[in-house]
Amino acid sequence: MKKNLLNFQYEELVKEFANLGLERYRVDQVYDWVFKKKVFDFSSMTNLSKEHRRQLSENFEVSIPKLLDVQVSMVDKTTKFLWELGDGRTIESVLLFHPDRVTACISTQVGCPVKCAFCATGQSGYDRNLSAGEIVAQVLAMELNRKVNIGNIVYMGMGEPLLNYDEVVKSVKILHNPKGKGISMRRITISTVGIPERIVQLAHDLPEVKLAISLHAPTNYKRDQIVPLNKKYSVEEIIHAAKEYQRLTKNRVTFEYVLIREFNDFADDAEKLAELLRGIGAYVNLIPVNPVSGIDGIVLGRPHHWALERFKEILEKHNIECEIRREKGTDIDAACGQLRRRHLSGAGKFGQRG
Ligand code: SAH
Ligand code: SF4
Repeated sequence: MKKNLLNFQYEELVKEFANLGLERYRVDQVYDWVFKKKVFDFSSMTNLSKEHRRQLSENFEVSIPKLLDVQVSMVDKTTKFLWELGDGRTIESVLLFHPDRVTACISTQVGCPVKCAFCATGQSGYDRNLSAGEIVAQVLAMELNRKVNIGNIVYMGMGEPLLNYDEVVKSVKILHNPKGKGISMRRITISTVGIPERIVQLAHDLPEVKLAISLHAPTNYKRDQIVPLNKKYSVEEIIHAAKEYQRLTKNRVTFEYVLIREFNDFADDAEKLAELLRGIGAYVNLIPVNPVSGIDGIVLGRPHHWALERFKEILEKHNIECEIRREKGTDIDAACGQLRRRHLSGAGKFGQRG
């Protein structure tokens, strides 16, 4: 069976190539084709000899997922992709357009085992982890498809990155390598539901990468109801890990807080959150919940405008920087997991297609 070239870090590839009698600079050439020119077929890599091309084709492939569907927002160009992997499973990725940069939001698992109450991905079940190569390939596939240069990456698509720790760390290193895509570590954000020991490990392994923690509630009583994993890792343990992470990296930590009407959007929640985050260099993203159809259990209403503003003002009163996240792609299946969920349920009607 052929090996997926995207699963190897640069230095590993140097060794693999050496076994075939190819020098280090051949890796550089292939990296240039794959990451810069987006040429994935060895036979088209014309600065390699025919013999080398044949050898590489026999041993390696550059595995790129197959595009199943695209949705483009007419409001802000946010573009959502549904991909089919080698084993027929499907994942989503999203491109976000800002005036000065293009950000990719990528998946780390097929589905997610955490099953947060408001999340379409979690509700659609869990199949498996993605390999590093499958994580990296999403970036290349989007660049090829939309002819863009991705400068920022957020690990905020489907899945819980820290439950697929090794492959996620490896994918970051591959995407960072200056001989290839060369994305600065500072332009990469990993978002986690909060797994304390992995958060601390991340401080050691990828100290420059930015961290976002999906907190969503300031007390265990409330968080237990929307994030099942909270029963295992409490709010206090997560905050403790965040402090340790900060001590080690000096990085500011972003906290994500999905606001659900009359559940976690009260003044008292904001006060408790401010208290919890005291002494942490925190930045809070306030995200009005994106109602996801067909999820049972608590009613997930969007907060009133005044409740959002009230929440923000209370945090600011306590000198906690925050923003209400400007929503992107509100006219498409914006929350990650929704596009795939619709495909899995067999409904195939979309808005604007790309
Ligand atoms: N598993 C990781 C990363 C993927 S989820 C994590 O939970 O952080 C990325 C973000 O999308 C999380 O902050 C999550 O809370 C948010 N999200 C999921 N479903 C949402 C919805 N219906 N409305 C608003 N945000 C949602
Ligand atoms: Fe998983 Fe994140 Fe969705 Fe929770 S919000 S189910 S951790 S992807």
